[in-house]
Amino acid sequence: LPYSTVAELLAAGPAEAPAIRATEGRPSLSHAGLRSLAERTVTALNARGIGRGDRVAIVLPNGPEMASCFLAVACGATTAPLNPAYREDEFAFYMEDVKSRALIVAQGAATPARAAAAKLGIPVLELVPGEKAGDFTLEGGTAGTAALPGLAETDDVALVLHTSGTTARPKIVPLTHGNITASARHIGATLALSPEDCCLNIMPLFHIHGLIAAVLASLGAGGAVCCTPGFDALKFFRWLDEERPSWYTAVPTMHQAILARAERNAEIIARAPLRLLRSSSASLPGPVMQALEATFRAPLVESYGMTEASHQMASNPLAGPRKPGLVGLPAGPEIAIMDDDGAILPRGAIGEVVIRGPNVTKGYEANPEANAKAFINGWFRTGDQGVFDEDGYLRLTGRLKELINRGGEKVSPLEVDGVLSAHPAVAQALTFAIPHPKLGEEVGAAVVLREGMQLSERELRDFAAKHLADFKVPRKVVFVPEIPKGATGKLQRIGLAEKLGLSA
Ligand code: ATP
Ligand code: MG
Repeated sequence: LPYSTVAELLAAGPAEAPAIRATEGRPSLSHAGLRSLAERTVTALNARGIGRGDRVAIVLPNGPEMASCFLAVACGATTAPLNPAYREDEFAFYMEDVKSRALIVAQGAATPARAAAAKLGIPVLELVPGEKAGDFTLEGGTAGTAALPGLAETDDVALVLHTSGTTARPKIVPLTHGNITASARHIGATLALSPEDCCLNIMPLFHIHGLIAAVLASLGAGGAVCCTPGFDALKFFRWLDEERPSWYTAVPTMHQAILARAERNAEIIARAPLRLLRSSSASLPGPVMQALEATFRAPLVESYGMTEASHQMASNPLAGPRKPGLVGLPAGPEIAIMDDDGAILPRGAIGEVVIRGPNVTKGYEANPEANAKAFINGWFRTGDQGVFDEDGYLRLTGRLKELINRGGEKVSPLEVDGVLSAHPAVAQALTFAIPHPKLGEEVGAAVVLREGMQLSERELRDFAAKHLADFKVPRKVVFVPEIPKGATGKLQRIGLAEKLGLSA
């Protein structure tokens, strides 16, 4: 039987092969080294009274220790990784919300998480890095006896995360070992990952995408993950050249930044070939996907993921046809399309995307109202709207909460984004609702232009009108240097009109 806990997943890898790698020439940690790190960490936590089910907040900079700390702590407790950019109040809120029993920070790090932990009266453990990438010991805390010592089991919660808060106040998502290892296996199968593979991780490790797709799926396949300090479009090509990874996974905004610098790094791309590129967490415009495939001469696999599903739900196939703008075939859970009354719709009908399967959370924590809305007849409602095409590929048509209701006419902001992004002068476009006194909502768009390009609002609207029905054409277009993002780096349509000071 394959693994169903993080400890079993780590035990399955080839002992001497590298597991955790770092940039800057640090020696790597082998699969056997990672296993023994996990054992020592569980013992160290148990000796401080922390065991199975106890929540440990982790506030570390992106990098090898963040990855190995997540894995090692999950083997004997529940991890709660937090964004290191939070302020004291945010740390206090999130740590209290998930009932953290301890906080792990980097030795000597001056993070406001310490003050938040002091306020909540929870111990701070300091992570002291070892010589090898990801190796560490824990210092501090007080002696105690864990109520449930030893290794976590399949149904224990391995990870608690908050949703990105794109459409509502962030909700707590508990994910079990069974959930996250199932997802790692699905991703490994989709990408045909093997011990030969090494993922260059540029994703933040306090978010489901990086934790599961880059870290857990790589290790579950017996391969390695090279942990960078975080995305940097300039350093990206140097990392490709020096570390020679076989793939990377990223959100569309990162892919777009990489693409913008690809031409001047053509030599590196030629001598450090990738086996594949993966995109997830937001929709990747079709032309960007095609440009990436042409530039890197490798398949770009777009996948559909969400926190509540331990990341992956659907994916374009690595070998089969990859359809630009579509999120592909079910790749993990079962997926169906449902109407407002809970009836499953036939292929070709638009409705809400619902899922069920081993990678799906059993429910939000301490949020009965959200759970009552989220589950229906054993299915989990994603809040996304979509339709299966004749080949069984899923097309997302928008988020139910983000659909713009222009006097009763529903506008999919995703569709408008696609049209605006197709203009040669446009680097990025985000369509959103502007409150309107008569229509309820009107269509607006924030647009980032390509370097050195010029375009007027009028020209862009004329371009859009050639491809879209009049009611979908943005009434207001604002040109911005950068589109404001939410806490996990996602573009947020909801509230954008307010942020940009727009009203109709
Ligand atoms: P919240 O649930 O708090 O509003 P969120 O849904 O943004 O925040 P995540 O779990 O990080 O939090 O994101 C999942 C969502 O991201 C999906 O429901 C979907 O709307 C979107 N998404 C993920 N992958 C894709 C993709 N390939 N194409 C389009 N949208 C995607
Ligand atoms: Mg969501």
